[in-house]
Amino acid sequence: MKIHGIRNISYNNQNRMNNVRNNIPANNYNACNATNNVSFNYFNNITFTSIDNSENLRKLFDKDVPCMYCGKTMLSEEFINGPASKKILNGPISNVVKYIIPVQDSLHEKERDVFEIIKALAVEYPEINLHQALKTIEPTYEMALRVEQRPIFDELYELSSDLPLDAKKKFDNIMNETEKKLSLKPVKIPFSRREFIYKLDKICDSMTDKKMKNALTERANGLPDEKKAEYPIAKNQLSSIEQIENYIADKNFPEYDQIKDLCDISRKKINGIPVVIKFNRKSFIYKLNEALNNLKDKDLKEKFIKTADKLPTSKDNTSAFILKYADYPSSRIAKRLLKSSQGTIEHIKPFYKNGHNVTSNFAHACDFHNQTRQHQDLDIFIDKLPDVDIHIQNYIDFLIDISKEKDSFEKYDINPSHIIKISALIKTLSKNKLKPNINRLYE
Ligand SMILES: [Zn+2]
Repeated sequence: MKIHGIRNISYNNQNRMNNVRNNIPANNYNACNATNNVSFNYFNNITFTSIDNSENLRKLFDKDVPCMYCGKTMLSEEFINGPASKKILNGPISNVVKYIIPVQDSLHEKERDVFEIIKALAVEYPEINLHQALKTIEPTYEMALRVEQRPIFDELYELSSDLPLDAKKKFDNIMNETEKKLSLKPVKIPFSRREFIYKLDKICDSMTDKKMKNALTERANGLPDEKKAEYPIAKNQLSSIEQIENYIADKNFPEYDQIKDLCDISRKKINGIPVVIKFNRKSFIYKLNEALNNLKDKDLKEKFIKTADKLPTSKDNTSAFILKYADYPSSRIAKRLLKSSQGTIEHIKPFYKNGHNVTSNFAHACDFHNQTRQHQDLDIFIDKLPDVDIHIQNYIDFLIDISKEKDSFEKYDINPSHIIKISALIKTLSKNKLKPNINRLYE
């Protein structure tokens, strides 16, 4: 067995660079060095690379590396955001479906459900785009979602009978507004500068044209604040909205409709005209929290929030997904379907729990599992994952195969000592719940 040598770098210098890159304060420096030196001496030939330099490990996303937690083959950034995807994802769904079918097994459960629905639509309406496709089926899924939401609202109504008078009044107002939103009746809602900026920012998120993004943000920031601004506030707000509309008027870009809708609704709000607004789970829970803020009975408040939390989200419910994303441009919908399967670099020991940005602490996990884990300890996180022992073993076996390829260390930073090191770390941090077998290294 040939063990590749350590890269020709100065260890201390590299560590200093890591800290500079990650803005770790100087006094954390020595602690970092101390810990690393222990493992450094023990394994003798490990590379220390910052997250910026995880580039070599990232190249494995082009080689169908499986997620360490779920075993799904991960998608590369290029596949999701590259030039090929840009051309296809805003076009006819028949082409979108053809693009995604080869990787459909990488999709997570809810995304896969939605993709199956889109596939069926592509047979019937091959020429429409994804946005139009979701709009076509929106009414059916809206009805299905209402059926699932109703018992949860009923539970909230029941809880509200225990509220003191002032809180009950606030709750009734929220529910009154909610019922109107659920049945798509217009509601009178005050304009909020903060909400406008937040929503515009969300829409601009997916924009590739940075110049346009900046121009829009600048105009939105020019909106007078209804809490501070001088009279005549409404007139000034309307003129800011008009500036945004004028700016986009002669431009052709996927987010046009969403921004136009936002401006139309905002103008009505400023003028005191009732508007039809979709129910939004997040803002409902936010308002509920606000209304119950001063409630002395903390148990009751918790019961409310726990009940509201049961409302379906676009992450765990197909109907909620379709309703939420029906308003988005096609490429954004497609990217949302693919994003949770995107490959990411995972810190085996969480960065926020003193895990370092070094290759010996890096593994490969899909965006879904990376986001779900956040900073949880490994032994706790894996408890909820089905067949995780098999997936970890497949991942380690995959790395072993890579390590046997020519120049695997130069290309991917993968060599036997890297595999030994991360297997040991996984074993330790999972409190021996996971014991990757590295025998194949010696075959
Ligand atoms: Zn995964």
